[in-house]
Amino acid sequence: MKFDNIVIGGGMAGLSAALRLVEAGQKTLLMASGQSALHFSSGSVDLLESEGDPRAALPAFMAAHPDHPYSKVGMQNIEASLADLQRHCAEQGLPLVRHETNHQRLTPIGTLKRTWLSPDTCACVTDAPIPQSLLLATLEGFRDFHPALAAANLATHPRFAHCRILTGEIRLPQLAEFSRNPHEFRSADIARLCDKHHLVADLASEISRMVQESGVPDCRHIVLPACLSLGLVGPRLAELEQCTGCTIKEVATMPPSLIGMRMQEALKRRFMALGGTFLTSERVLGARYEGDRVVGVHTQNGDDQLFEADNFVLASGSFFSRGLESRLRGIREPIFDADVLSLEERDAWAGRRLFDHHPFMGFGVKTDDQLRVLRDGKPLANLYGAGSVLANYDPIKEGSGSGVAVATGWQAAGHILGAAQ
Ligand SMILES: Cc1cc2nc3c(=O)[nH]c(=O)nc-3n(C[C@H](O)[C@H](O)[C@H](O)COP(=O)(O)OP(=O)(O)OC[C@H]3O[C@@H](n4cnc5c(N)ncnc54)[C@H](O)[C@@H]3O)c2cc1C
Repeated sequence: MKFDNIVIGGGMAGLSAALRLVEAGQKTLLMASGQSALHFSSGSVDLLESEGDPRAALPAFMAAHPDHPYSKVGMQNIEASLADLQRHCAEQGLPLVRHETNHQRLTPIGTLKRTWLSPDTCACVTDAPIPQSLLLATLEGFRDFHPALAAANLATHPRFAHCRILTGEIRLPQLAEFSRNPHEFRSADIARLCDKHHLVADLASEISRMVQESGVPDCRHIVLPACLSLGLVGPRLAELEQCTGCTIKEVATMPPSLIGMRMQEALKRRFMALGGTFLTSERVLGARYEGDRVVGVHTQNGDDQLFEADNFVLASGSFFSRGLESRLRGIREPIFDADVLSLEERDAWAGRRLFDHHPFMGFGVKTDDQLRVLRDGKPLANLYGAGSVLANYDPIKEGSGSGVAVATGWQAAGHILGAAQ
């Protein structure tokens, strides 16, 4: 089976590369062994932790970190990659908003986290005035969002000093079926139920009841956990807003995170609509080489079949997605046995305390300036690396997680197309 390109990995990096390739008319196969980090992520795209405009901070950051993946992509391409992501998501009815500075998204525990792009349904703090009152509500029995905890944390934020933060609980008899087994009472279960039955009228009357019982008649801003639809939630929230006269936004729940899953599905749909082939539950095990080129990869379910292509993108993620493996003797990239950046002394891999800096976060696959993967010190001519499998970036410390994934995926595709600047 021969393709122009094979992309290994169905997360943000793989999808970003695959979309650019397929849009350029290339016959592209994307293979993913399982879920990606998007299933656990907020669905917001972090570019760089910075109080102001992260784009203004990036040139100095890149100058200070010449081996960082951003430095191999460049400012212009980083911006173009994010604009493309916005365009693809908008095409699928999932608009991503951004401002001239980082905005802050509300986390499930009520803290505020700086980020660059967020789905327009997310509860975010921008430069706009904070309302006088805010109601954080959950669904009775749901364990993955606790309004009281979120409200207590949010109340400590100076911008919310004047805001009355209320909490509430939506009671839906339809949810009783989940109370038999708390393991079934997850965001995806509730969303499935909401998608099956039209619960907008019930939800609206519960929201109106909570507002009335709060005793704050002008309470018109509601935040709900993201569990009202597996698919595009915008129209459902708009309907609820119309019924209640309230502004209704979502907060990502503890994993699984529907906001991230919706983005994954939207990008996958877009890729397939453009003619791409998506093979899921397909683990790539190894490759065949001719000189410095990869000619094909073989997979767990493919028996002896070789999936051949002119170019390959390795976007298999970090330890979390098994794109990197930690073994007793060191760190390993399991498909190509690519060169990895690591530390020999195992004790130096992690900081002592949980919130210390952990050097292992920066471990990963080495690439040259064109993102070509190194093996035995030399670049493989047609294998490009992208996303969190790469060395020299720490998504948590830098607040750069999905930004790097999108930018490097897009740039890897650009090199394949000969379009990288
Ligand atoms: C739990 C969690 C939450 C995060 N939340 C955020 C957030 O809110 N915002 C943000 O900006 N960043 C976040 N990040 C950072 C994250 O690293 C990036 O956002 C980005 O999503 C990484 O994308 P990726 O495509 O490189 O890797 P992943 O999303 O990990 O995807 C890797 C893909 O490769 C596949 N794969 C692995 N091995 C194989 C194989 N052998 N064969 C075939 N397929 C394979 C996996 O199944 C998966 O589809 C989070 C990270 C984690 C771990």
